[in-house]
Amino acid sequence: MSEMNELYYKDPYVRAFDATVLACDETKDGFAVVLDDTAFYPEGGGQPADTGRIGEAIVRDVRRKDGSVVHYTDRAVTVGEQVRCELDWGMRYDNMQNHTGEHVLTGVIRRAFGYDNVGFHMYPDRIGIDMSGELSDEDVRAMERAANDVIQADLPVEIGFPDEAQRAAMGFRQKKELTGLIRVVNIPGVDCCACCGTHVKTTREIGILKVLSSMRHRGGTRIEFVCGERALRDYAIKCEQIQQVSRQTSSKPNEVAAGVERLARQLALIEEAKGDWSRKYFALRAATLPSGQRLCILFEDSLTPFELKQFAMQLMPSGKAEVYAVLSAKTGEGDSAEYAYAIASPTVALRDPIRELNRVLNGRGGGRDIVQGTFAADEATVRRTLLATFG
Ligand SMILES: [Zn+2]
Repeated sequence: MSEMNELYYKDPYVRAFDATVLACDETKDGFAVVLDDTAFYPEGGGQPADTGRIGEAIVRDVRRKDGSVVHYTDRAVTVGEQVRCELDWGMRYDNMQNHTGEHVLTGVIRRAFGYDNVGFHMYPDRIGIDMSGELSDEDVRAMERAANDVIQADLPVEIGFPDEAQRAAMGFRQKKELTGLIRVVNIPGVDCCACCGTHVKTTREIGILKVLSSMRHRGGTRIEFVCGERALRDYAIKCEQIQQVSRQTSSKPNEVAAGVERLARQLALIEEAKGDWSRKYFALRAATLPSGQRLCILFEDSLTPFELKQFAMQLMPSGKAEVYAVLSAKTGEGDSAEYAYAIASPTVALRDPIRELNRVLNGRGGGRDIVQGTFAADEATVRRTLLATFG
């Protein structure tokens, strides 16, 4: 069978068909099946392969190989037999809607800004295109609107094989030099380019095009979007997420950003108050310590590395000891414990003893006036080693 003459090209709306099995060869993990004609689209032009069934066999992948379309299945089918074949139509139609949507969005941007489409990715849940120039958020919103106007206008999506002169007259866009028979997809006044994918008949079938994000990418703009059923599924996910945030922030669904901002402000106030209380607590602890110690070791519950440092800084001027070690358990209990530490001294050089401590206690960390890090050892071992080092 010659290229571009298969059933999926003649009629992209075929979702079930009968075909004769021409070949069935065993592969590493299944079978490679060739039919006399097929509606299964082989991966190509950015569009993923169709899946479905050939008789009882499940079609996992479809590729074009040496001029024929090869279906990769989980089990064998009998050569020479006629079999009923069925596509996973939901997935295929979704690809047709999204792929055609890509033509529309690229076309409106190209016409408004003169940019080229230099990259195209079809992910399972969204489409990505790279346009060759920069677009502001406002530009992208305007292009989304223009694309949806094209969708509503219900323009035909024409497929043909025009020659070079005809292509030039149509405003043909082309990514690379092409020769031979060229399959051209033309949406009059919107987009005209070579494409081997499957498309819907008219633009209204795309349903809707919604841009999810746009960002600067290699001097141009990367836009991600969804069309049709996929847009509806995406909308459902977004609504569910917003509803959860809405409940948790006690804000209306369309005002969740303000709700999250309010929570963030409250959190900042709580953090500030917590800092005040910590400083008061550290001062009290320092005041109640006995004087004249060589080494003061304090194990405290759930202090962050920042708080450990604050504590050590407040202990230093108290004059109660020469070396202060404050520690807080990070993870685990008993032998598997890991402690975050802050060790400080106004009089003792810490560099060498800390290196030794880190070695013995599987620790790491460093610093100048206040040394911070972690020890991977249990409390008794940490205490004993600290005493042996500084005591
Ligand atoms: Zn296409």
